Amino acid sequence: MNTPSLVPPARIGFIGLGQMGLPMARSLARTGYRIAVHDVRREALERACDAIGAEAPGSLRAIGERCDAVITMLPDGNAVQAVALGSGNGGDSLLAGLQAGAILIDMSSSSPVGTRELGAQLAGRGVAMLDAPVSGGIKKAVEASLSIMVGGDAASIARCMPLLEAMGKQIFLTGPLGSGHAMKALNNYVSAAGLAAAAEAVLAGQRFGLDPVNVVNILNASTGMNNSTLNKFHQYILSRAFNSGFSLDLMVKDLKTALEVASASGSPAPFGEACVQAWCDAQAALGPGVDHTAVVRYWEKLAGTELGRKA
Ligand code: NAD
Repeated sequence: MNTPSLVPPARIGFIGLGQMGLPMARSLARTGYRIAVHDVRREALERACDAIGAEAPGSLRAIGERCDAVITMLPDGNAVQAVALGSGNGGDSLLAGLQAGAILIDMSSSSPVGTRELGAQLAGRGVAMLDAPVSGGIKKAVEASLSIMVGGDAASIARCMPLLEAMGKQIFLTGPLGSGHAMKALNNYVSAAGLAAAAEAVLAGQRFGLDPVNVVNILNASTGMNNSTLNKFHQYILSRAFNSGFSLDLMVKDLKTALEVASASGSPAPFGEACVQAWCDAQAALGPGVDHTAVVRYWEKLAGTELGRKA
C-alpha cells in the first residue's frame, strides 16, 4: 500500500527548539506545515510559538496523537530515546500517542547504535523511524539549505522527502537506519581534525614570526585549506568572537560517536583516537558551555601564546 507523502498542511511535531531546531521548524512553517512543538526549556517553547506560530499541546503524548511525523532535534540519542519512550519524563512519551503508520525522524546527531535499537522498539509498535542528521550550522538552517544525510527504508524516505526538502538543499540517501548518524559522526571527525590541525599550524606560524591573518589567507589559497580555515578562523577565532553556535560539548559527543563507528566496524583509527583525546582534554580544560571554535584556547594555553598577539 502506498502511503501519501507528508505535504503541507500536514501537522508535524518538532521536539528541541535550540540553535538548530528553531530555524528548521521555522522553515517547515514557512512552507505551510502546521507545527506542534515541545522543549524542556519554557523560554524556547514560548519563543517558537511567538516566532513561527507553532502550537504547544503541552505533552509529548498529545504531539504524538496529533502528528503523522515527529522530528527530533535534540542534543544526543539519549535525549531522543527519553522523548520517544518516556524515560525521565514522568512517563510522558511520543510513543504513548503515536499511531501505527506514524514516523519519527531523528535529525539530531545521535549514536547510530542507539538509533538502531530505538528503531527496532518503534517498529514493534508499527512506528517507522528515519535518521536524518544535518550539516551546515545555523546559517544553513536559517537559509533552509542544510545538507541532510538520510538513513531508513525507501518508502518512509519517499513519504518524508517534502519535509526534508523544506529544510535542506542537498539530501543524501546513506542506506539503512543508523547510516545517516554514522555518516554525520564521521563528517564531524574530519571537520574537528581539520580545525585542530589548523589551530596547531596557525599558532606555530605565529610563534615562528608569521602574521596569523596572513597564515590563514595563505592556507585558504593553498592545499592546506579546509572548512575551518575558510569559514571559522577569521570569522570566529582570530576575531575572538567564538560564537559559531555549535558547542564544544556537542562536538566532543560527535567525536566519541565517530570512534564508536570505527570500533563497531573493526577499523583502526590511531589518528582519530589522538584527535578525540585532544578535544576531550580541551573540554576538560575549558569547562562546559563554550563554543567549539574556542577549542583553540586550549592550544593557546599549552603554548602560552594567544593567537593574534605577539609570541
Ligand atoms: P541546542 O542545545 O541549542 O538545542 C537543543 C534543544 O533541545 C534545547 O532547546 C534543549 O532545551 C532541548 N532539549 C534537550 N533535552 C530535551 C528533552 N529531553 N526534551 C525536550 N527538549 C530537550 O543544540 P543545537 O546546537 O540546536 O543541536 C541540536 C542537535 O543538532 C545536536 O545533536 C547537534 O549535535 C546537532 N547539530 C548542531 C549544529 C550546530 O551548528 N549547532 C549543526 C549540525 C548538527
